[in-house]
Amino acid sequence: MSFNIQKIREDFPILSRKVNGYPLVYLDNAATSQKPQQVIDSIVDYYSNYNANIHRGVHTLSQEATDAYESARQKIKTHFNAKEVYEIIFTAGTTHGINLVANGFSDILKKDDEILVSAMEHHSNIVPWQMLCDRTGADLKVIPMNEEGTLIMEEYAKLLSERTKLVFVNHISNALGTINPIEEIIQKAHEVGAAVLIDGAQSCSHIKPDFQKLDVDFYVTSAHKMCGPTGVGILFMKEEWGNKLPPYQGGGEMIAEVTFEKTTYAGLPHKFEAGTPNICGGIAFGAAIDYLNAIGFEAIEQHENELLEYATEKLLEIDGLKIYGTGHKTSVVSFNIEGIHPYDIGTIVDKLGIAVRTGHHCAQPIMDFYKIPGTVRASFAFYNTMEEVDALVNAVKKAKYMLS
Ligand SMILES: *Cc1c(COP(=O)(O)O)cnc(C)c1O
Repeated sequence: MSFNIQKIREDFPILSRKVNGYPLVYLDNAATSQKPQQVIDSIVDYYSNYNANIHRGVHTLSQEATDAYESARQKIKTHFNAKEVYEIIFTAGTTHGINLVANGFSDILKKDDEILVSAMEHHSNIVPWQMLCDRTGADLKVIPMNEEGTLIMEEYAKLLSERTKLVFVNHISNALGTINPIEEIIQKAHEVGAAVLIDGAQSCSHIKPDFQKLDVDFYVTSAHKMCGPTGVGILFMKEEWGNKLPPYQGGGEMIAEVTFEKTTYAGLPHKFEAGTPNICGGIAFGAAIDYLNAIGFEAIEQHENELLEYATEKLLEIDGLKIYGTGHKTSVVSFNIEGIHPYDIGTIVDKLGIAVRTGHHCAQPIMDFYKIPGTVRASFAFYNTMEEVDALVNAVKKAKYMLS
């Protein structure tokens, strides 16, 4: 399939709406992506034709729903090249997956063990580890970054020791767009016997990670950033970890046998999937993966890189504009204009129909590093156009004129 941007845009009903009298220019894709008709249809189809609870009914609807849900899991397994389908655990999203792993390590970590996180993490990849350290007496250490917004790998190597038990890094930073060298990070961590969790919430809409090739221990992501619905995601965990970690929540679906004396747990993945899951969400996640693969990740990456290059060049023509995150990166442009608060820019460009994010982007430590209150962030998806970049640049120029 060739990359036909006009045809792709027609798949997204929301892209034809107006905001404040202007055509919507949606550049907040790092917060959540828009949904194509194919994904919306899969949701309507489920609730219209085969809504039922899964894994327990013998009746036809339950079997159809179970088949669809499990075939979505299979699709996700194939997409990410996991070794086994039961290494894919459905979650409510990235945050849920991280908390599940952090909880699992409560009994494994001991006092004075060390956990390394990067300086550019999302709050959801900082707070659960701080809570884990409080429970276990382990220490949290930070892998520093430089002015470019790139992790300093020499410092990372120095921090690693036999005390390091876990390393947590995002694949792509939502605030800066930096693509982290996770292959090297994983390899170095394994040399000292530490496990690695990669937060892929921001990466999976841009690139296609290969879990076996990466040899990653845990990888989490959310469907809603990849054209799927909110409230569903996956946690990949290597089988050995799946067997080692205790269940996170107790309830239906996760048990083998229950008596008041003793309960035994179900095998993977059900051990970690207590209660009725987001059935429709899982099925729609599968539809989203099909949709993205039909376009092709190579084409997506190429188009997004063109948008990034063009936006960077045009925005930098504006006097006093500074971009944060200038290393190896994906289609996120985080910027400020000297003397103007990011919130004021966001408000004015919204009046012109343009959706950008302003603030700390759930990554306050990055803002502290640069000594700024926040940034304006434009984040591009494959359905954005060069004309939309022009609209953004013109709106930012207008905002600058009005505010200075
Ligand atoms: C969005 C995001 C999260 C949180 O994802 P949820 O879907 O809100 O759980 C975590 N990390 C990064 C890098 C993100 O971009």
